[in-house]
Amino acid sequence: MSTALDFDVIVIGSGFGGAISADLLSGQGHKVLVLERGPWRDTLPVRSMGIEDRAALPLGGRVFTHALRSVRIGRFRLPLNRKGLFEVQSFKGLHVASASSVGGATIAWGALVERPEDPAFWQDRHPDLDAAAVEQHYAKVIADLEAVELTPDTPIPTSIWDQLPAGGNRACVAAQEQPRLAMKFAASIDQAGASDTDAHGIERQSCTFDGDGFLGSAGGAKASVDFIYLARAMRQGAKVQALCEVSAIVPIPVDDGPAYEVRFKNLRTGKNETCKARRVVLAAGTLNSVQLLARSGGLAAMPALGQGFGANGDLLGLWTRDEDAPSGLVAPPFIGNINAPEQGDAALGIASLAWLKDLPVLRHLHKALSRRFLVVGMGADSGSGRIGFKNGRLTVDYDAARESVYSRIRGSFARLGKETGSKVWLIGKPLTVHPWGGARIGPDPRQGVIDHRGEVYGNQGLFVADGSALPAAPGRPPALAIAAWAHHVAGQVARSLEV
Ligand SMILES: Cc1cc2nc3c(=O)[nH]c(=O)nc-3n(C[C@H](O)[C@H](O)[C@H](O)COP(=O)(O)OP(=O)(O)OC[C@H]3O[C@@H](n4cnc5c(N)ncnc54)[C@H](O)[C@@H]3O)c2cc1C
Repeated sequence: MSTALDFDVIVIGSGFGGAISADLLSGQGHKVLVLERGPWRDTLPVRSMGIEDRAALPLGGRVFTHALRSVRIGRFRLPLNRKGLFEVQSFKGLHVASASSVGGATIAWGALVERPEDPAFWQDRHPDLDAAAVEQHYAKVIADLEAVELTPDTPIPTSIWDQLPAGGNRACVAAQEQPRLAMKFAASIDQAGASDTDAHGIERQSCTFDGDGFLGSAGGAKASVDFIYLARAMRQGAKVQALCEVSAIVPIPVDDGPAYEVRFKNLRTGKNETCKARRVVLAAGTLNSVQLLARSGGLAAMPALGQGFGANGDLLGLWTRDEDAPSGLVAPPFIGNINAPEQGDAALGIASLAWLKDLPVLRHLHKALSRRFLVVGMGADSGSGRIGFKNGRLTVDYDAARESVYSRIRGSFARLGKETGSKVWLIGKPLTVHPWGGARIGPDPRQGVIDHRGEVYGNQGLFVADGSALPAAPGRPPALAIAAWAHHVAGQVARSLEV
């Protein structure tokens, strides 16, 4: 049967997985459509791209209207604002926060760029996967994001070296190895906020130290994939449709290889629409990608779907500093990693609260806020969690008590508090912004949902390029691993279109 196909590739989602796939595939001349349920954000780089329909970041008073897209508590889901930034889901053993925007979670991310903790992360995942073929993309991603290593000389008003100066008899110290930051800093603190325009007219402002955090970066100091990868994809001919929420991926019969119909709701018009393509790249973020695979009737069975899910050991604490410590309200979002004797293979970072400064309810609390920092712990968990579906609803089965990484992080937080004279206050149930797995790569369909090329077992032409594909917890911020995987998958999709 001959069916007219609208696109070569439909990409679902526009975070690292989707934006990179769209960039690489459109760069090779393929006709690409990106469907993203969130809106473009009103930032300096996006304005300079000429995008007209933009939604506000949840900054200042907009926090009340634009912070949340939806909240789920157990079985109950409350939709709030289709242009809201965060989707927060609370399950029995775990809270999960993800973001919804053109640019995916990079609108909200901390811009930390690190390799997985295990140098052999991609090894032995599938007999035909050459780990080096994925790892080769790390350097390109770091260059694309212009990520710079954090050092004592980085021109920022306060860093981990200021908060934990050398000397004294402390066991908690600034870590020897610091992550890279995908942030644009001016040459000196006095020049903070200076802007420049690249050869394609995209304008960015350097970090102003009073925002650029988890509520978004209005001036574009924080690298996000909307202007880093999607701008180029669009110049290459890719079409990006914001506010389009995919509900199903349905195989369709054509006589020359696999093809799919993608069903979605245009959230602007409220109408249901469809489009067809030879290949589909799924990159809707860990929980949403697994949900779409489970809900799409007509796909071949995926026995391992939902298995091998984890939270990357994410644990959050609040650290209070002395009155005379440098203020955390004039700072970049992340100020550095620390080492503590208890941490083992976990990583411990310190983030500022400068991005909370302009929230109306907190304006009277500046003095208290200036002395407070977030302590962020993460490390490899086992992947014994499970994403499931009951009566059409998403369920997550995750038992933090079985994951030893959390006790190592709690021990480190306790040590930091003791040595600096203030208890680190901890959120009891883990809140992860780094969910991984559920549609992971595996050597066969019983142990994985996708093969070494990212293609879903039994569903030719359907690929997974996001956090759900990860085979294990990176134990570090996962974006670099996801971005490298997306490069690998996009290369495989392109090859599959050649034959
Ligand atoms: C607050 C925060 C801070 C973070 N900080 C860091 C950090 O410093 N370093 C790091 O490495 N990682 C960080 N992360 C995690 C990192 O950003 C993510 O792991 C990464 O961006 C995931 O990429 P992805 O492609 O898997 O999906 P996402 O970036 O989650 O993108 C998925 C996109 O798909 C869209 N979507 C979902 N369902 C549908 C649907 N049905 N139809 C259409 N579109 C859909 C979503 O709206 C979203 O925009 C952070 C995350 C958050 C939330």
